[in-house]
Amino acid sequence: MVPRGNFLFDRRAQMLKPKQLSSIQQASIRKLVHYAYRNTAFYRKRFDDAGVRPESVKSLDDMSKIPFTVKTDLRDNYPLGILAVPLNRLYCLHASSGTTGKPIVVAYTRGDLERWSRLMGRTFDVAGVRKGDIVQNMYGYGLFTGGLGFHYGARAVGAIVVPTSVGNTKRQLMLMKDLQTTVAACTPSYMVYLCEASRAEGYEPRKDFVLRIGLFGAEPWSEEARKRIEDSFGLRAHDCYGMSELCGPGVAIECEQREGLHVWGDEFLVETIDPDTGEVLEPGREGELVFTMLSREAMPLLRYRSRDLSRVFEDECACGRYHSRIARIKGRSDDMLIVGGVNVFPSQVEHVLMNVPGLGDQYQIIVSHEELDRLTVKVETAKHRLQDPELTKTVQEDLYATLGIRANVEFLEEGTLPRHEGKARRVVDLRPKE
Ligand code: ADP
Ligand code: ZN
Repeated sequence: MVPRGNFLFDRRAQMLKPKQLSSIQQASIRKLVHYAYRNTAFYRKRFDDAGVRPESVKSLDDMSKIPFTVKTDLRDNYPLGILAVPLNRLYCLHASSGTTGKPIVVAYTRGDLERWSRLMGRTFDVAGVRKGDIVQNMYGYGLFTGGLGFHYGARAVGAIVVPTSVGNTKRQLMLMKDLQTTVAACTPSYMVYLCEASRAEGYEPRKDFVLRIGLFGAEPWSEEARKRIEDSFGLRAHDCYGMSELCGPGVAIECEQREGLHVWGDEFLVETIDPDTGEVLEPGREGELVFTMLSREAMPLLRYRSRDLSRVFEDECACGRYHSRIARIKGRSDDMLIVGGVNVFPSQVEHVLMNVPGLGDQYQIIVSHEELDRLTVKVETAKHRLQDPELTKTVQEDLYATLGIRANVEFLEEGTLPRHEGKARRVVDLRPKE
């Protein structure tokens, strides 16, 4: 439970009771459907094509009448086809990092930007960031929503933000020590890399740095990666989730209980669906997350299919917040590799590797095809273990137990695989494209 005296940014919203949350959602959904129908040709057509009248969506029970919006809708309407306000009401534009194709342009009114900053302020607050904290923001500044999103969050809670942006690892470490940074914000894969890089540069992470909180997100990561980061730096790591289409980071954040990430229910309605059939799933079942952002002005998105796989819990959290929670993201449905007919998520491979003592932090997953699909996992280890048959056997058996297929395992000397400054790219698919 959050002690009463503690600083709570946007306290009223953070501590909304279930009844209050559902009445906000009920009222917002009706308004939102009318708003999107009236102000965007895109939703007018989408509703008309589906034969749904906006007034037939009267409550949350009618959600399933609303047609889904998907990533290709945004790409097809590139750059600003889903705008619900005149251009002169826009305040800024961002674009997705485009890891999966053409970028998606995201538009904000002044109100949207303020709302987003407030959500980011809550993110920082929930993780325990306070006025006076020094936040080193190593997310990329620019079109990507990560950099500025975390920047606004730090500003909202009155912390001191150091906008180092991505890269220049030596300088990051120098500033981290000299400025006595207390909060690190970056992708988890970069933080894992900083563990290694700091030692290589002669730092003793727990002595030279005073980090106490980490805000890590923008890509899937494992409990094991969290443990490595926390053990190295002595900080407490929080998982943060978001995506550009939903303004950016700030959709969900782990509270001190760290049993799932709270999705801010006064702004987002979250559903889980079966990604193949679109059927809505009961809370607790794994499926694709679908988000509706309730009070956005520039670019309303109704039932937006995230492609991210997770589960939703609606029970009360020991922290006292009632905003429902999602489990750690397992991966995107489009990250999933199908190798010889078996589904493989990169996050499962990471989970296995990080549990084997003696392996380094960096790995790569290679899929090739020679008569059959083949999976090769390359992972770094100490020089004297490169030819260790016992270690090979352990990794192969553990991968088989988790994935259900055999993988070739190759050990590489530490420092060989590429390091990543933003989102890690660990999969190399060499199979011929049709
Ligand atoms: P892009 O699609 O261009 O990479 P974004 O930068 O907006 O666009 O990335 C959003 C995606 O990043 C999410 O849909 C999700 O797949 C992933 N992501 C964000 N935060 C997390 C997180 N905490 N855990 C796992 N995946 C995450
Ligand atoms: Zn909680």
